[in-house]
Amino acid sequence: MPHIHLLSPRLANQIAAGEVVERPASVVKELIENALDAGASRVDVDIEQGGVKLIRVRDDGCGIAAEDLSLALSRHATSKITSLDDLEAVASLGFRGEALASISSVSRLSLTSRTENQEAASKVEVEGREMDAHVSPAAHPVGSTVEVRDLFFNTPARRKFLRTEKTEFGHVEECVRRQALSCFDTGFNLRHNQRAVQNLRPALSELDKERRIASLCGQQFIDNAVVINAEATGLKLWGWVALPTFSRSQADLQYFFVNGRVIRDRLVAHAVRQAYRDVLYNNRHAAFVLYLEVDPGSVDVNVHPTKGEVRFRDGRLIHDFLFRTLHKALADVRPDDHLRGAV
Ligand code: ADP
Ligand code: MG
Repeated sequence: MPHIHLLSPRLANQIAAGEVVERPASVVKELIENALDAGASRVDVDIEQGGVKLIRVRDDGCGIAAEDLSLALSRHATSKITSLDDLEAVASLGFRGEALASISSVSRLSLTSRTENQEAASKVEVEGREMDAHVSPAAHPVGSTVEVRDLFFNTPARRKFLRTEKTEFGHVEECVRRQALSCFDTGFNLRHNQRAVQNLRPALSELDKERRIASLCGQQFIDNAVVINAEATGLKLWGWVALPTFSRSQADLQYFFVNGRVIRDRLVAHAVRQAYRDVLYNNRHAAFVLYLEVDPGSVDVNVHPTKGEVRFRDGRLIHDFLFRTLHKALADVRPDDHLRGAV
């Protein structure tokens, strides 16, 4: 047996990247989350060749101070939590301080940023973390731009798992859809190979929100949806659920957000299935866009590296609240009722 030795930071980051960065869409997810955490009112996403050649995410958020720029790319470096107590009630989307370190270890990354207090912007560039981060002056309005080029250029094994440009872009589009559903206050702009794909202005009024839902989930969905708006002690559920007549052959229009974070959860899926049980054929799937708001302290978000799962402290309470609310909403709508009746 060879002696035990510490892995180089670069290799450690590349191994960690394996958990978070599966494909271009995973990069887009992390970068948009950072933009939203920075309070962006607008996020522009530019993609080339399905994201393999280029992913550029630009925001008008708070920016990063020049002296923090290279630190932002280090592993376990975050401005979002400082203690375990913070983690237990975390309200930001990020908290692991891993994304930029991971992404920059498997791509050519540049981060340009400016805060309100700075006259000029700065830029930091790294290439697969081969060299030390290089900071130089740059031009940029308040906010940040992250450019990720040549994803997996130095990890050929990963690169081999990438699919066609079309498939990879499909995943990117789905990722942007989820983020745009999670944050109505923010405008989103998505381009692929210089072609505009999605352009969403901030949706502040109810009508604007429904328009955004229509452009992301289809007019059909919103036309056949019941509005949900329910509260119980410490819990709030709102959003849209489709009438059983608008069921799907696949579970491809099911979005569930907990405190703004899109998640997959067996308990939630079960509660929804139960609520639809009597009104949906066995092989059909419900369609919904639902937002659950709970006390951040009652949900553990530190369960999975991609943060796509959570653990509820009181799962049974959540399950019953969901089931009761949706069951009632669906029961209240008679088949010939005219739609979007508030519940
Ligand atoms: P995390 O989001 O978990 O903190 P990241 O690696 O994604 O970790 O980012 C590291 C830090 O860099 C963040 O905590 C934040 O301070 C800063 N940062 C990254 N992206 C942005 C951005 N778009 N705007 C402002 N700050 C950012
Ligand atoms: Mg992050």
